[in-house]
Amino acid sequence: MMNLSADAIKAAVAAQRSRAEGLFDELARCSQRPRGITRDTYGAGENAAHEVFGAQAASLGLEIRRDAAANTYATWPGGDRSLPAIVAGSHLDSVPHGGNFDGAAGVIAGLVAVAALKGLGVMPRRDITVMGIRAEESVWFQVSYIGSRSALGTLPPGALDARRIDTGRTLAEHMTASGGDPAAIRAGRNELATSAIHAFLEVHIEQAPSLVELGKPIAICTGIPGNFRYPDARIIGRYDHVGTPRRFRHDAATAAADFAVALDKLWEEHEAAGLPMAATLGRFHTDAAAHGLTSVAGEFHFSLDVRAYDADVLANLEARLKGIVSEIEARRGVRFELGPRASAAVGIVSPVIRSELEQAAVLLKIPAATIGSPASHDAAAFAAAGVPAAMIFVRNENGSHNPDEAMKIDDFLQACGVLTAWIAANCRA
Ligand SMILES: [Zn+2]
Repeated sequence: MMNLSADAIKAAVAAQRSRAEGLFDELARCSQRPRGITRDTYGAGENAAHEVFGAQAASLGLEIRRDAAANTYATWPGGDRSLPAIVAGSHLDSVPHGGNFDGAAGVIAGLVAVAALKGLGVMPRRDITVMGIRAEESVWFQVSYIGSRSALGTLPPGALDARRIDTGRTLAEHMTASGGDPAAIRAGRNELATSAIHAFLEVHIEQAPSLVELGKPIAICTGIPGNFRYPDARIIGRYDHVGTPRRFRHDAATAAADFAVALDKLWEEHEAAGLPMAATLGRFHTDAAAHGLTSVAGEFHFSLDVRAYDADVLANLEARLKGIVSEIEARRGVRFELGPRASAAVGIVSPVIRSELEQAAVLLKIPAATIGSPASHDAAAFAAAGVPAAMIFVRNENGSHNPDEAMKIDDFLQACGVLTAWIAANCRA
């Protein structure tokens, strides 16, 4: 698939080691907080990361532009600008107290690939764009894929009015403060026409320890889970004296415990049937203003994220959950208010690109596993919009969304090698 030799590609990527290390260090410096890394969505941390990315891209001679959502695009112009572009990138925000590699690795991989291809004297026919995506971490506004869906024109109406959990200000206000133009998004203007994108490729750290377990540096992704979420669900019971006999109780805390156990059983059943999924109660608490040692809990709060790799499995899970809720309501004399619902479509990885990436890894003699993504990623938003999308995962110890993420540069450069080889083979036609 390559005209360039595997050795030449590996050498060109290896020559970018100090650029990659320098960029990761610079990003860490501008987003280091007392505990871990915080690149807050549409806030100081994320804005600083976009500045670092833009400056590095400009030094490589790339064309820089920002869209209405303040996503950053760095383009190496191709010989025929009417051809659909290759887009490689990921997000530049992080969770609060996160690590330095979640998201940033995909943007730096794009820059490394472009720099390596320039070093190899490649003359691309189609544009190659490295995209620094905004607002992937849904913890801040409790909305998925804000940056990529704004760019693709698929952000749901109403999302711009979501409020950031810490500041209480709306997404539209934060976007404006970061140089964006939410009115243009509201009016339906989007930067990326799917017909103008040849493919979207995202390098990302693996967020589970599968590659550590397998002893392999990288993996080619087989699929990205879709999800449905209830960020602010409640169970309403009745506050009562602790001496109240069981038959008179409307105990919201015990109902919540029933719900947690039923959810885990449902997962166990799916696991036994070989149907991958995950279910998480992220917040799970009584009302601190009203609970106490001598009261039966009259109210309970929780958040729920359920994810799976197949749209039918996901739909079936949601129906089963509704059944569990009804059963607990009847038995415990409580009422569930699930509240606002958010969802993201299952991300189908392009089988063609996936197999080309696997072949590239073989040619470069890089041991690559094949795994489904445990997490949601911007690539899923591109896939849902109809863009051929694929992902490469990099081995990462200690999990992610914590300050202890540990990605080795050697492993990262292997992923960059596969990305570079794929772009080399696909940018000239
Ligand atoms: Zn991420």
